[in-house]
Amino acid sequence: MAVTPLMEKLRRRIAAEGPMSLADFMQACLLDPDQGYYATRDPFGAGGDFITSPEISQMFGELIGLTLAQSWMDQGSPQTFTLAEAGPGRGTLMADILRATRSVPGFHDAMRIVLIEASPTLRSIQADKLAEFTPAWTDNFADLPKRPLWFVANEFFDALPIRQFQRRGEGWSERMIALADPGLAMALSQPLPMPDLAHRLGDTVDGDIVEVCPAAEPIAETIGARIAAHGGAALIVDYGGWHSLGDTFQALQAHEPVDPLAAPGEADLTAHVDFEPLARAAAPAVAAPLVTQGVFLERIGITDRARALAKRLSGAPLDSHIAAHRRLTHPEEMGSLFKILALTPPNAPALPGTDTGESS
Ligand code: SAH
Repeated sequence: MAVTPLMEKLRRRIAAEGPMSLADFMQACLLDPDQGYYATRDPFGAGGDFITSPEISQMFGELIGLTLAQSWMDQGSPQTFTLAEAGPGRGTLMADILRATRSVPGFHDAMRIVLIEASPTLRSIQADKLAEFTPAWTDNFADLPKRPLWFVANEFFDALPIRQFQRRGEGWSERMIALADPGLAMALSQPLPMPDLAHRLGDTVDGDIVEVCPAAEPIAETIGARIAAHGGAALIVDYGGWHSLGDTFQALQAHEPVDPLAAPGEADLTAHVDFEPLARAAAPAVAAPLVTQGVFLERIGITDRARALAKRLSGAPLDSHIAAHRRLTHPEEMGSLFKILALTPPNAPALPGTDTGESS
């Protein structure tokens, strides 16, 4: 149990106000302005706490860039559009998207880049990496302009705060963060009827845990509304499934799982993403059937791209290139756990790689 400055702050807050929800705890641990995890550091890469697909290989962002550009052309190449990314981290995915789309006629002239990023530390890393493209930043999705929107997010939704409820008969007890000696511990609230969870009474039994992510649905609603009204598409990549059952709250530090309550502000906290509520909130935008990252990347040509890049490599760089391809696509690595949710306007062509014409 580490006595971090944030641990002391949270203990004082709980002593004054009573147990806090998991969502309030996650929010403070990740984004506290002084001691939050994202607010104070660059957590990515081999020397950090976790590594994401764009940091594993340039192929990820290049292929996504070409997918977005194809979708833009399929919708008549609108003259001005927003190219937005939520939670861009180090800016690597956006940089790869932009390099791959440089040769798509008109795409760069038409795009206006908007980055949705809460962390000042990461904003400044993104500003350095993307300086020549003059992006704009916001932390509010409602600021997205009312015009065509091509949107991408990788490992953004898993960082949004969740609440957990444990079934007790026909009611639900919320899992809360309470004081322990030392540190913090999980505690259960009194069971209450929860009309919002009525639909989970059918697929759960006593003692089961379900999760909700209150911040995610308004975001999906805004993105879906822009796309349905003005054109565009969204490509949301994350680990999770259609809807979850059980506790997926987790902490990673130096690439190892750790106790999420042990060192507030020092570990990355996430939960699996439920895509069903996102797809529902995004209506009238149309969600393509969920596809795994491995199948999606194969459909949009990762093997051809990997072979082309391999021709220029030998020795250790070739080995690590082959390992990266496997890591992104293999079912035992990121290929199955990670899913793609694609949103398009009603009656528009599906995003490449997510169409339903072929079986997966
Ligand atoms: N997409 C990047 C980074 C993923 S980590 C990659 O794949 O490497 C999560 C990112 O979301 C970080 O940039 C983090 O600062 C940002 N973030 C987390 N919560 C946020 C919020 N509520 N609003 C805006 N950005 C947020």
